[in-house]
Amino acid sequence: MSTPESPPDRATLLASLRDYVEQIREEGLEGLEGRSSVAASTASAKTPAASASRSSTMPAQVAPPRAPSPAASTPATDAPPHSAPTELFYLYPELEKTADLATLREFIGECSRCKLAPKRTNLVFGVGNPKADLMFVGEAPGADEDLRGEPFVGRAGQLLTDIIERGMGMTRAEVYICNVIKCRPPENRNPEADEVAACEPFLFRQIDLVRPRVIVGLGTFAVQAVLKLKTPISKLRGIWHEVRGIKMMPTFHPAYLLRNPAEKRVVWADIQEVMKVLGRPIPQRGTRG
Ligand code: SF4
Repeated sequence: MSTPESPPDRATLLASLRDYVEQIREEGLEGLEGRSSVAASTASAKTPAASASRSSTMPAQVAPPRAPSPAASTPATDAPPHSAPTELFYLYPELEKTADLATLREFIGECSRCKLAPKRTNLVFGVGNPKADLMFVGEAPGADEDLRGEPFVGRAGQLLTDIIERGMGMTRAEVYICNVIKCRPPENRNPEADEVAACEPFLFRQIDLVRPRVIVGLGTFAVQAVLKLKTPISKLRGIWHEVRGIKMMPTFHPAYLLRNPAEKRVVWADIQEVMKVLGRPIPQRGTRG
């Protein structure tokens, strides 16, 4: 007669559940519908304001009117001429006066413009070449990034570094790396609509100031937030889009690749497209991951 195994503890169950939800989110499912959420989801589908929020309890702290979309979801053409729209900066008009990344960082300061501020250890602004041809944009800092004040320094960051260095033959110092959200959401939860609204102008100003030739959007959240789309990443990746006049290639987040190593193949295909546009040689034998 076998002895029943002891059930996993609550922390293990929660970690497994969080991992599962992150995985299905990356694959394009927006949520799991519970009994009590059916009516709410039906109602929210009728109201853009409600559907824009990932939470049914959107805080009243920041609920600004939405500015016109900064992005075009149509495939980009070569070197599209574009004068950056200014409407994005209606929240912080002085942003437009920031002449470089250093003054932008000064402008942001010890930011408390959204409810993520009290929980962070460090604000994670961005790193790399201020005149980079290539920019990577992720979602938000995780625990390692929060501690060190630098984006993509944990396990997923190591994989991104491998993609840049071993896959593309570049260095981290040659590219620019940042996130949509500059402060870590508690427990790595999804950033909420009010937090995105408060923080995204900083990202768009970073894009304007770096003016890379290509942006690589990493993962569902970053790509959907930047493009203002709800389309699953699995349908967006591999197709050129445009953000503020700059070509953007969406692809899977490195954290997703850690859980699904077989998908490295499609990310490598996306990265090869990026390298073609940048005019960089593609290694014959990839040493990726
Ligand atoms: S997430 Fe962005 S808006 Fe919110 S406190 Fe941090 S820097 Fe400021």
